[in-house]
Amino acid sequence: MEKTKKILDKEQLEKEDLIYLLSLENDDEIELLRQKAEQTLFGLVGEKVFFRGLIEFSNICTSDCLYCGIRKSNPNVSRYTLDEAEILEQVQQCANLGYGSIVLQSGERSDNLFIDFLVKILKKIKQMTISEKQPEGLGITLCVGEQTEENYRRLYDAGAHRYLLRIESSNPELFRKIHPPEQKYETRVKALKALKNVGFQVGTGVMIGLPEQTIEDLANDILFFKEMDIDMLGMGPYVIHNETPFAVYSDYYEKNKEKIYKLALKMIAVCRIFLKDVNIASTTALQAMQPVGREDGLMFGANIIMPLLTPTYRRKEYQLYEGKPCIEDSTEDCYFCISNRIASIGRTIGLDAWGDSKHALKRK
Ligand code: SAH
Repeated sequence: MEKTKKILDKEQLEKEDLIYLLSLENDDEIELLRQKAEQTLFGLVGEKVFFRGLIEFSNICTSDCLYCGIRKSNPNVSRYTLDEAEILEQVQQCANLGYGSIVLQSGERSDNLFIDFLVKILKKIKQMTISEKQPEGLGITLCVGEQTEENYRRLYDAGAHRYLLRIESSNPELFRKIHPPEQKYETRVKALKALKNVGFQVGTGVMIGLPEQTIEDLANDILFFKEMDIDMLGMGPYVIHNETPFAVYSDYYEKNKEKIYKLALKMIAVCRIFLKDVNIASTTALQAMQPVGREDGLMFGANIIMPLLTPTYRRKEYQLYEGKPCIEDSTEDCYFCISNRIASIGRTIGLDAWGDSKHALKRK
């Protein structure tokens, strides 16, 4: 207990401190960690929670990530891409509900048709969401994988200003183990740098609790986030999907579930304390493991939540992992449910605002 207190009082944490904090097992000590993360968040960023309405607009994917349910080799997924009208309908709902921002996410595609389609949609979204409440329209975050710097620029110029691309693991060895050989760690890092060059606010993140991942790996991930000077974090527990090659780890997963969940919360808290003013999302994967997962994430230092806007009739076809919550719900259900969850932990919602990361605004 004393050692934990001493570490939490330090101005600047070292790698050994990160490892120590991530390794905490005792509930009272984990509560101290949580309190420190919350204090850091409230002091440097604020207690408001910002919404990003999430539209999973296509599950067509050219990648074969060994952990992911919509990998191209999974024949059981029925593939879809929402058309323009379907996307814009959700965007309108998002604006009506007062969500200040939207996230467009999909499987990996980098062909010209795909980029052209996105550019067209982005411009329309901007046009149709400019209002008195939101003079610059909805804030738009993209999460559509590795692209060339030229294509990143096209997407930026069309109106997106944030981009999420997880490094998945900053340990090149582990990255190789969880991806097929054609997917390269170096390419992912290059893509993150290209996003910064273009001017995006950049988010990254990792899966927590991957088979063969160590606590030291996670501490190095945090140092990687710092070194890359990232603005936003989206991290969540690794959750098994039985139609992937990683189904072989089902024993590991069943035995370690609770540990993985706790570790994900500790990771959010340590990132908040160490990286201070970045935006951190409380991800849906937390709720796939625990009904109150996303509230827990917020209480451990996250300040962003992504209510689902994907049309209900498509939700079951976008399952990256098992136990995805809210599959039968409508957009309004998700809005009321999440608003109540935020109120239940005494926080407020930042309506009709982009809620950009303080870290990014400071750099400007
Ligand atoms: N194709 C895009 C976006 C879709 S995947 C991209 O790669 O950026 C979005 C995130 O879901 C991935 O970055 C990954 O970290 C996470 N994910 C995929 N499968 C998962 C699983 N089984 N458990 C937990 N997270 C998973």
